[in-house]
Amino acid sequence: MKEKKEPKVKQCPQCYQEMVGIRCKCGYEVPIREQLETDAQELQKITKASKNDKAEWLGQLQLYAAQKRYQAGYAAHLYRQKFGVWPRVEPKRADQVSEEVMNFIKYTFIKRAKGNARTISQAA
Ligand SMILES: [Zn+2]
Repeated sequence: MKEKKEPKVKQCPQCYQEMVGIRCKCGYEVPIREQLETDAQELQKITKASKNDKAEWLGQLQLYAAQKRYQAGYAAHLYRQKFGVWPRVEPKRADQVSEEVMNFIKYTFIKRAKGNARTISQAA
């Protein structure tokens, strides 16, 4: 049977011996709250890379908006269309808009032209 995740070795706060997983040989068990916190930390590690992506996207969208002299909220709206959430990341400074971002912007323009009459600036 495969373990769900790699067991981590840590020091037992009760007997100060090395313990693996959530239960020590001495009978000590990691409180459930702590277990959840560890899981959350693990999760954050995973999402960190995509957080960097988001920061890059936001930076590029803002650069695009500035170049086109769009409203400040424009980049945020595009960002939201891309990620489904409002930006909560610090934008990463961009010198140019990548092809990927450019293609996405074009795609949203096409999508909007096809029926969605409400423009992003009106929605802002
Ligand atoms: Zn112990």
